[in-house]
Amino acid sequence: MQIAKTIEDIKMIISEAGSFGKKIGFVPTMGALHAGHISLIKKAKQQTEFVVVSIFVNPTQFGPNEDIDKYPRPFEADLEICKHNGADAVFAPSAQEMYPQKNLTWINVEKLSESLCGKTRPNHFRGVATVCAKLFNIVQPDVAYFGQKDAQQVIVIKRMIADLNLPLRIVVCPTVRESDGLAMSSRNKYLNAEQRKDAPLLYAALQEAEIFIKAGERKSDFLKEQIKKILNISSQIAIDYISIVNADTLDEIDEVKGKVLIALAVKLGPARLIDNILLDVK
Ligand code: AMP
Repeated sequence: MQIAKTIEDIKMIISEAGSFGKKIGFVPTMGALHAGHISLIKKAKQQTEFVVVSIFVNPTQFGPNEDIDKYPRPFEADLEICKHNGADAVFAPSAQEMYPQKNLTWINVEKLSESLCGKTRPNHFRGVATVCAKLFNIVQPDVAYFGQKDAQQVIVIKRMIADLNLPLRIVVCPTVRESDGLAMSSRNKYLNAEQRKDAPLLYAALQEAEIFIKAGERKSDFLKEQIKKILNISSQIAIDYISIVNADTLDEIDEVKGKVLIALAVKLGPARLIDNILLDVK
């Protein structure tokens, strides 16, 4: 496995692979890799011939009150995970390498960036879209792999690709969970033992909504109330939002029908946790 810290180096490594006609698969990450990331790397390995993983804690997607310096960076362990799971190259640039001067050019995927997580994290998706565009330009992958765990991110990136005619395809991989249902996340490391005990309530609440829908319930307000009740079992959970939206447009819907995304975000101690389920309701 080759490791590049500069744009020049990763371009050279990839152009060699590309010139042998290999299909390039790309997994963008912020590191602190876990089984969720590994599922993306493995899927890329199955579907493409040269897998590039980027590890970059992107400063432009963190808000002023979000502590980027505390974000875990177990770099050597991450490299081992990449190597062990078949990555061919890792791109791990510094912030200086990616943003050598104050960034003046932004990709703003309007509307889709503004709801759900965009409300409490105003410039987050602008940072995500911009860094993904930069990484796509550097790596020039045929296929990029993203997790359903970050559902809004997937929708924003897909729309950017469509609107800008970017020459790549996105594959979305299912959310990987701990055995108690908690969606794996690098941010789970911030939880203490008490908070960790309450964290599975997020998925339990979403599952409760799904059970009601399967039993015929269609009213979003009722479903949100049920979700809230379960989250409120924990005195440590502060709800940011519970949204039931059309899975393509992210518009709030009063009645669940068709492709529906039920998404939530909470603060649990120091961690902001998100989770979602995607349903096709007849
Ligand atoms: P991050 O390092 O958090 O920026 O995530 C990098 C990629 O891994 C994103 O596409 C995430 O959606 C994906 N990812 C993170 N956690 C999970 C998970 N539990 N299951 C599946 N994919 C995940």
